[in-house]
Amino acid sequence: MNGVRIGNGIDVHRFDMSEAEDSSIILGGVTIPHQFRLLAHSDGDVLTHALMDAMLGALALGDIGTHFPDTDERYRGISSMELLEIVRHLIIEKGWQIGNADMTIVAQAPKIAPHVAAICTSLSRALSVRQDQISVKATTTEKLGFTGRCEGIAVYATVLLVSA
Ligand code: MG
Repeated sequence: MNGVRIGNGIDVHRFDMSEAEDSSIILGGVTIPHQFRLLAHSDGDVLTHALMDAMLGALALGDIGTHFPDTDERYRGISSMELLEIVRHLIIEKGWQIGNADMTIVAQAPKIAPHVAAICTSLSRALSVRQDQISVKATTTEKLGFTGRCEGIAVYATVLLVSA
């Protein structure tokens, strides 16, 4: 079928629990205060990573590991929003655009709900789409599993691309 392509992406990052401090995490380009930072080669934006994997997956273009290998010093500490801009252009070059994206953040802590609106705004601006094309939801796992033990955050993303 021409005209639509679907992709999914999953990412997990663990908290650096070696020292509790006044720290923060980044989700969808939005800084959220938390006592632990997320361990990563980049800025640890686990939400944007899952989103990019879904966008690449929709066009069978591999994943962010192949496009932005963590062995490459160019990507050390890089803003994931910069990588998202590269992936966005890749999609456009191939003749596609975002139809909609739906993401679920799985985290026991920090509380995500107060930041969802800001995250949606940030991602819709970065992708040059309307706010109603971007959905970000959050859930806990009722204290079960690694997210429930507050050891890290998981994100599931689904993206529908439509031919431009
Ligand atoms: Mg990642």
